[in-house]
Amino acid sequence: MAPSAQVPPPRPDEAKLVSEGPGSDEHADHDDDVPDEEPTLGEPTAALDSLTDAELLRRFDEEPDELGGISIGTPNAGRLLTAQRMPTGEHWRLVDPAHAYGTRETVAFLTRAILRVQEEHPGGHPLYIGHISAKAGGPLSPHKSHQAGRDVDISYYYREEASARWYKRATADNLDLPRTWAFVRALIAETDIDLILIDAGLQRVLRSYAEELGEDPAWLEDVFKGGKGRRPLILHAPGHATHIHIRFFNPVAQEAGRRLYPALVQRGVVAPPAQFVSYRAKKGDTLAVLAKRFDTTVQAIMRANGLRSTLIRAKVTYRIPKQVGVKMAPPSRIPPRRVPPPRVAVKSPSN
Ligand SMILES: [Zn+2]
Repeated sequence: MAPSAQVPPPRPDEAKLVSEGPGSDEHADHDDDVPDEEPTLGEPTAALDSLTDAELLRRFDEEPDELGGISIGTPNAGRLLTAQRMPTGEHWRLVDPAHAYGTRETVAFLTRAILRVQEEHPGGHPLYIGHISAKAGGPLSPHKSHQAGRDVDISYYYREEASARWYKRATADNLDLPRTWAFVRALIAETDIDLILIDAGLQRVLRSYAEELGEDPAWLEDVFKGGKGRRPLILHAPGHATHIHIRFFNPVAQEAGRRLYPALVQRGVVAPPAQFVSYRAKKGDTLAVLAKRFDTTVQAIMRANGLRSTLIRAKVTYRIPKQVGVKMAPPSRIPPRRVPPPRVAVKSPSN
């Protein structure tokens, strides 16, 4: 099944992700470079279509956990409601349980991919799961993303069980290729994956293993390099030789977040979007006058400009926070999965 061109062409800021950068930084999670955008093509989920907005809000009030997680905004500017913690399991360890919260979809996708590895290659060491999101989402140090319950930091599989530990640098020598590849393949084939960040050097090792295994070459090219208006699913970003960064789409949680957003803003559960305008002060302007003109407050203008007094000066440009009201985003549209064709030949790979 040849995947059709469903994803917008890479933006300039994505280019640096796919270029093969220098070696990774051992201690920083450099997912700051991940593009913070939602796809605009594909079919929206129909999971919540049978509920009116009022019914959805009632369910949120009466049985919030039944909704299975509400992902609001984007991974780099988001929130998470009614989150669930990744459960404990035989095949993984939570490095920081207090920050291992995701949506039901994220938890289910992650679990499915890990269990698929066990089906295909039983044994090995447990994976280490680092940060997913904080319980309520929002900023989570040191990341820029991980805000909406859709991002996961997770270890590689290492060959020597005894040497496996969180944040161990993976290399061609210590990488457990069969299990790591089975994991990546399951993420792509069986979950709504948005992106997988893996160090470029390790990508080369994984890809040649997959070729040797008889994976479809065109599919491999598509997921590693992209093509005709599609970005790859597997991207390079510095810092990802020590762990894999996964981002899922959450068709249900994102749609629930989108539809509940206006009501949540109204209730003060989430902050409304703010917009700043630049204004060059004229002689005679005062903060009170500006606050009135822009429908904001003196305090809000002072905060936005770091002012310690109410004095403003003519010919100086100030940032004025302007209320833009609450606007519901258009539906997130989830691109179709890039399911691999059957393997063309089964050899026994050297690793
Ligand atoms: Zn990360």
